[in-house]
Amino acid sequence: MSTIHFSFELFPPRTPEGAAKLPATVARLAAVQPAFFSVTYGAGGSGQDGTYDTVMQVIGQTGIEAAPHLTCVGSTRAKIAALLARYKAAGIRRIVALRGDLPATASSPSAPGEFHYANELVAFIRETHGETFRLEVAAYPEMHPQAANPAQDFDAFRRKVEAGAHGAVTQYFYNADAYFDFVERCARAGITVPIVAGVMPITNYTQLMRFSAACGAEIPRWVRLKLEALQDDKPALLDFGLDVVTRLCETLLKNGAPGIHFYTLNQAEPTLKLWKNLGLPAPQA
Ligand code: FAD
Repeated sequence: MSTIHFSFELFPPRTPEGAAKLPATVARLAAVQPAFFSVTYGAGGSGQDGTYDTVMQVIGQTGIEAAPHLTCVGSTRAKIAALLARYKAAGIRRIVALRGDLPATASSPSAPGEFHYANELVAFIRETHGETFRLEVAAYPEMHPQAANPAQDFDAFRRKVEAGAHGAVTQYFYNADAYFDFVERCARAGITVPIVAGVMPITNYTQLMRFSAACGAEIPRWVRLKLEALQDDKPALLDFGLDVVTRLCETLLKNGAPGIHFYTLNQAEPTLKLWKNLGLPAPQA
């Protein structure tokens, strides 16, 4: 059986308090030896320096690989080339290559700037840097919210793989069937890159509903209703969320997911509780 990879996503801290807390969070997560960390870019207004600094901080602190996310929306070839040169010089060898979210005012799904879709970014990185970077791209088992239909969204995913992506990480989901259906579609289309499942721990009802409305993740009705009822009872909500997501991860792992990418939201506890529930190796001192 091939090794299952676990990775942890962070975002660049947005406040001095967030920055002060991050090293302790990273230390706790690093103790379970993930395959790599990744650091978002642009999301919530974080800029290039925040991502770069957080990536370098994580590597310096833990010695574990850290991969920057790189979005191309509104950018130019020259800017992306400069950023790639910076990452290459810093020894970075993995990038999560994305289009990024469009400005709220956008009237077309084609991004403004010199890159319109993530496949163009992947092609550009491969043309200019060959195999220097391992490239991960986003996959959407429940369909990207701006896609016209599932078939077109799948074609868009296939184009990213054909452009040279080495692997994919999915948007989070709570319906395991959507993930396995996507993986089956990939197999039928001859797509063999690993499709790692993105998993979001459940810790906050309002935040989960907001994120999910924006990114198109479906919260099963029974889960939503129960979370809604528990929103003023934090310990009960955390327990219920942990049960739901533990079962999801067990189903994914039992049925062959090649890895899980945890959206940690810069919190160690929810991910480590899942880790423990799944019986994964204990943290090392
Ligand atoms: P694409 O693959 O380009 O797809 C975007 C949309 O365009 C889809 O609807 C697709 O179906 C459609 N499309 C693609 N090609 C074509 C075409 N030729 N013609 C017509 N339609 C087409 N966002 C951030 O801002 N920062 C981050 O760090 C970040 N990290 C993420 C990490 C992961 C693992 C995931 C799953 C998402 C992340 N996102 C991040 C969100 C992501 O940027 C958004 O979902 C964005 O709207 C789409 O990016 P993409 O790379 O999937 O785009």
